[in-house]
Amino acid sequence: MKVYADCAASTPCDEAVLQAMLPYFTKEFGNAHSQHAFGRESACALDTARDTVARILGCKSNEVYFTSGGTESDNWALKGTALHRKNKGKHVIISSIEHHGILTPAEWLEQSGFRVTRLPVDNTGLVHVEDLEKYIDDQTTIVSVMYANNEVGTIQPIKELAEVAHRHGALFHTDCVQAIPYMNINVSELNVDLLTISAHKFYGPKGAGVLYVRNGVKLDKLICGGGQERSQRAGTVNVPAMVGLAKALELSRENLEKNNAYIASLRDHFEQRVEKEIPYIRQNGNKNHRIPSIANYSFEFVEGEGILMLLDFNGIAVSSGSACSSGSLDPSHVLLAMGVPIEVSHGSIRFSFGKHNTMEEVDYIVDKLKETITRLREMSPLFDLKKGGTYNV
Ligand code: PLP
Repeated sequence: MKVYADCAASTPCDEAVLQAMLPYFTKEFGNAHSQHAFGRESACALDTARDTVARILGCKSNEVYFTSGGTESDNWALKGTALHRKNKGKHVIISSIEHHGILTPAEWLEQSGFRVTRLPVDNTGLVHVEDLEKYIDDQTTIVSVMYANNEVGTIQPIKELAEVAHRHGALFHTDCVQAIPYMNINVSELNVDLLTISAHKFYGPKGAGVLYVRNGVKLDKLICGGGQERSQRAGTVNVPAMVGLAKALELSRENLEKNNAYIASLRDHFEQRVEKEIPYIRQNGNKNHRIPSIANYSFEFVEGEGILMLLDFNGIAVSSGSACSSGSLDPSHVLLAMGVPIEVSHGSIRFSFGKHNTMEEVDYIVDKLKETITRLREMSPLFDLKKGGTYNV
């Protein structure tokens, strides 16, 4: 059996999305900036895609910028606003559990003379509004806090955080990459200035994203060149990808409640079995404020890499930490920020379910997980000690 339970890393492209994209690879391939009928056809498809995204996000079409994905949108939002507003101040606030799409440009800003504050989180991964109140000052130009975390799924109080940022004259950006497939997000209601989404997390193509920028908000360019995207983001726009992004977003909104209920039922069944059948575990995340797809557990006395390998051997795809950092053996910055002890964080696995998964698959994962943990613990000197063994550490 082959089971894919790593939907926080990426999702399969929907057949309907693929069909919507196909004509723009072959028959309608014109450059959307060309001044002829082929170009106009592509420009028209792009306009329609932009209008769809704007309608769904609750903004104007000229507030939607197409990008190459979540990482570019995050980089552009943070660097672009911080650099543009550096005369107001050189202080940037992010949360300590952001994706590397925000963490790394924040480090770059720090090396370029900016002050960066990383907000703490509690042991469920929640940012507290009082902490933002505490650290924000009149030098702060941009605050960026992700809507839902990609490792543990915790949802942040974005509206309240944005209100604090605005009261202090700072802009507010939120990385919605993990939240958008599961939440009815409307930028006006949320009152954010910038927002990131990425199509491959909601059954769209990879390499396709959006940065929403509220009209009136100014930011430096990240990519310079031609006059595409109203001269703010250069480079020939990937028309098929943006058509796919819009279609995938439309489908995800139309089926939001149905998909959420189904995915949550898979996750709940998974959690009930894991908690009943596997001892010495710790759940990471916030049971009351979370997206329905992610279950993250630490399995004590074993290493995440070992679990991943044995599950992979049994055809099961899951992840330790985020896909962007799981090549590294460093412990997850998210779990460490939540106060998970370093040795426990090493044995952590993220299971992320999607609409294609079945209960049978969930049962298969739990069965193989039980076998895997038992086998690894049998070889673990720490577990031996725990049981009263004599292994000399
Ligand atoms: N932000 C979050 C929260 C993510 O989970 C990801 C991808 O894992 C990204 C940003 C990066 O998006 P992309 O893969 O489109 O660059």
